[in-house]
Amino acid sequence: MNTSANPLYEQWQLTLPSMPAPSVLYALAPIGIGSPHVESMTSYIARLAEAHCVFPGVLMRHLIVPFAKSHLTGEGSSTTLHLRDGESTGALNAHQQTAVNTVHILESLTKQRRLHLLTMVTWAEVFPLTSLIRTKQAWCPLCLEEWKAAGQVIYEPLLWTMQAVKICSQHDCLLETQCFMCRKTSPWLAWRSHPGYCPYCQRWLGMSAVVQEKNEREMNWLHWSADQVGMLLASAPLLTKFPARACINERLGSLLEQISQGRKMTFARLVGLSPKLVGNWFYHQQIPGVENLLRVCFAVNISLRDLFMEKQITCSLRSEETRDLWSSHHRQVPRGFWKSSQVREKLEALAKNEEVPPPSLKAVARQLGCSDPHSLQLYHPVPSQMISDRYAAYMDAKKLATEQQHCKDVQNAVRQLIEQNIPPTGRNVALVLSKPGILRSSVMREARRAAIREGQIMGNQSKEFPEKAKSVV
Ligand SMILES: [Zn+2]
Ligand SMILES: [Zn+2]
Repeated sequence: MNTSANPLYEQWQLTLPSMPAPSVLYALAPIGIGSPHVESMTSYIARLAEAHCVFPGVLMRHLIVPFAKSHLTGEGSSTTLHLRDGESTGALNAHQQTAVNTVHILESLTKQRRLHLLTMVTWAEVFPLTSLIRTKQAWCPLCLEEWKAAGQVIYEPLLWTMQAVKICSQHDCLLETQCFMCRKTSPWLAWRSHPGYCPYCQRWLGMSAVVQEKNEREMNWLHWSADQVGMLLASAPLLTKFPARACINERLGSLLEQISQGRKMTFARLVGLSPKLVGNWFYHQQIPGVENLLRVCFAVNISLRDLFMEKQITCSLRSEETRDLWSSHHRQVPRGFWKSSQVREKLEALAKNEEVPPPSLKAVARQLGCSDPHSLQLYHPVPSQMISDRYAAYMDAKKLATEQQHCKDVQNAVRQLIEQNIPPTGRNVALVLSKPGILRSSVMREARRAAIREGQIMGNQSKEFPEKAKSVV
């Protein structure tokens, strides 16, 4: 037999190659892990929603929360993942149970790993929750503008969520917290959040130039703080285990020995912090907040990263004039300033200003550098009242216009459903509306009932569902 006519072919492997299980959600890669500008968890969720062409509110309500309910047991309560009005969504970027749950659920849904780096979970034992994460969104308008111009993905770095970070160290500008158009502050994740845009008026939040009053000494200190926190976030992936609480106590003890030979009150004076605060660290085993820890690190000339990552730390006190840089943050205005005619004139000018939307008294106080609008009311009641009244009238008119628009939306949705022979139940109307949350209001529920009654009178209703429709009214 001629063997060349019957060559030996390789054997076929008929077993299927092992395939990883597909992820429920698109396996979106997080941005910037290992860099100071690592993405925040709320930004990741917003981008994930965008990748699925839905609002973050829809993704949370219809997928993430139900998934959490069926997959989290025991201590991990899924109810904390509800978006609601977004007010507590800063917790998704922090380090308590809500953040841990979110990491766990999103890793399961996207099959992405190391999502804890988008939160402060790594630093859970060494940073107290108080004053860790801002409750309201903050952003650098110049960064956003730059990314947009360069065609880069728009996202929100975890750095911006940190309360100790007040400026963008790349652009040396204060982070913005109020939308330029509607002047609202926003939560980290709202129903319609979209990185780079206001979730309320959908205005772009980037700007090519910002005009800000700058105090150079204060900016130096804020620049240093922002860089330190950025470096710390960048170093998180390098850690083999999360820093333990004992680490911070041990490091503070070492600084105390080196700076003041163990004398605690001397240490407090030298680093420029209150003796009570420092006493709480050493006598009551409290742990310092990020901002105070930064002040200590600055005063003793070490980086925040070294404080946690270096085995041996050597420190030395900075010169006195550079040590109190942060105190300019709490700079005092001259005595009697708030009573002065200078402030009254500014208030009168603002009260007569026809600017739309008008600012609230709180916003005016903030603009003038006054932490308490009540002082303005007390010393300058007339212009303060005018500002408050104008703002209240504007807000009332705006609320009425919004309510009327929502009523129209509900009526249109009911009409549309009746035309399609679909029962206009609350659930079905919610599916048609772009803002289903409006149905929670009693006014909108009444608008739906009225629209159904109107539909019945007009005789447009289908014969198949009047009972059903009635039963849900
Ligand atoms: Zn920037
Ligand atoms: Zn806005």
